[in-house]
Amino acid sequence: MTKREIAIIGAGPGGLAAGMLLSSWGYDVQVYEKQPFVGGRTSQKQVGRYTFDRGPTFFSMPHILDRLFQAAGHSLHEEVQLKTVEPMYELQFPEVSLYPSNDQDATRAEIARKFPGEELGFDRYMTETERKWEKLLPMLQSEHGALVDYLRPQTLKALPHLSLGRSLYGELARFFYSETLRLAFTFQSKYLGMSPWECPGAFSILSFMEHKYGMYHPVGGMHQLSEAMRRVIEAHGGVVHTDCGVEHIETKNSQIQVLHFADGSTASPDHVVLNADAAHAFSNLFDQPVSKAWHPDKVAEKSYSCSTFMMYAGVKKTFNEPHHKIVFSSNYKENVEDIAKRKVLSDDPSIYIQNGAVTDDTLSPKGTTPLYILAPVPNNESGIDWENEAPAFQEKLFDMIAKKTTYGDLRPYIEELEIIHPGNWEAEHWIYQGATFSLGHQLKQMMYFRPHNDFSGIGNLWLTGGGTHPGSGLPTIFESARITAEKIEQRHGIWRET
Ligand SMILES: Cc1cc2nc3c(=O)[nH]c(=O)nc-3n(C[C@H](O)[C@H](O)[C@H](O)COP(=O)(O)OP(=O)(O)OC[C@H]3O[C@@H](n4cnc5c(N)ncnc54)[C@H](O)[C@@H]3O)c2cc1C
Repeated sequence: MTKREIAIIGAGPGGLAAGMLLSSWGYDVQVYEKQPFVGGRTSQKQVGRYTFDRGPTFFSMPHILDRLFQAAGHSLHEEVQLKTVEPMYELQFPEVSLYPSNDQDATRAEIARKFPGEELGFDRYMTETERKWEKLLPMLQSEHGALVDYLRPQTLKALPHLSLGRSLYGELARFFYSETLRLAFTFQSKYLGMSPWECPGAFSILSFMEHKYGMYHPVGGMHQLSEAMRRVIEAHGGVVHTDCGVEHIETKNSQIQVLHFADGSTASPDHVVLNADAAHAFSNLFDQPVSKAWHPDKVAEKSYSCSTFMMYAGVKKTFNEPHHKIVFSSNYKENVEDIAKRKVLSDDPSIYIQNGAVTDDTLSPKGTTPLYILAPVPNNESGIDWENEAPAFQEKLFDMIAKKTTYGDLRPYIEELEIIHPGNWEAEHWIYQGATFSLGHQLKQMMYFRPHNDFSGIGNLWLTGGGTHPGSGLPTIFESARITAEKIEQRHGIWRET
């Protein structure tokens, strides 16, 4: 019997994870990636002799990805060496720095030392949020392709735990008196590109996951996860075509008929798994609107995450600084409102600095450091002219690092420096509005109201990635790949529980 052919558009983590499962289950998997490299936002950025993560740097819950490797007959831990990142991160507030640990007892002691009495709130937070996590997980792990899915017993059981009507910040205010601690347990909404005051309270599971499961770094950088998935696809006979963008998708009778590539060649697979940013693809790749709900005009009306201004600095110096450091704006609320509501550049931005060399000496030569510097900024709805603004914003970030942190002035030591700004994310990485964390995670855009993995409207179209159900962030994206791969198998009468 000839194998069924699956074309996967995009070799981001979602596409690669789905490809890994589907190739191991006997499909003829062909991954088409527009860039010359795999991994999408989870790829490597090489600048001279310095190796950077392009996007994600926080990796938690490796067991979720390992489950997919195991299902494909491999082991994540044999493919990639993971190191624990200790402390998980430094959270630098104007008045105090916090160093949460992978060891919950150590975190509790740190809270008790710096905020006496608040450790009781931490205990309560971990206990109550564990219950919430257990109820919400099955909801996030299953498809929500129909409104009636909300009536499934697992969903009904989860509803009281959704903290409906409460923002993430409001939810954490139930556990901590201190504003600083509230922020220390809500800044994770940034992973979804949202403000804690806007992000649904259900997402208190984000900080819980870190405190429960810890923080890891793949030796060599995050792209090692992407490279490992590529190897598994190839081991099962799949092919990953890089530099091979899909230019145009031809549909007829609610089916994808032909994929057209830049070089004029075409493919007509049985199924298409779309991993390219869904909002971008719906608005640019299809010959006709994919559905009424996701017509380009409707796509334009949705809410999108923030963007990020990135500096990849190769520095001739080493630093005794934590792997992850977040320097909070002195007025964090103003800063997130500048980004999400007013859509302007903040006078006092928050800054994230990754000093990967402290954990991993493979990233640059001895005595040097690849410093990854990120500032959350508005997405391109802002209308900011980044080509003009970027040089001044870059200097502002260097000034603030010099003024506020123990890194000091980095400029005299810089050997290499490259920037990715929101305009670049949109034009060179094909991310709608440069919204680096994809479609927003407001409740009105979650579950049924997010693009479905089994895409209604086009029979042989399937979706995976941060802009689809269940949402952005690597563990969630791996779940979206699993849901999609299993649904394709179900279409052919095979029920798998990976
Ligand atoms: C700066 C930044 C920091 C982040 N930090 C974290 C973090 O610390 N932890 C975390 O869990 N998540 C983080 N994320 C979010 C998220 O996990 C990553 O963005 C992730 O890579 C998204 O995966 P994806 O599967 O949606 O696809 P993407 O990574 O977006 O990959 C999609 C792929 O599709 C390709 N493509 C697009 N159009 C076409 C076409 N027409 N034809 C063929 N290929 C095409 C693209 O080139 C790309 O390779 C971060 C994101 C960014 C940008």
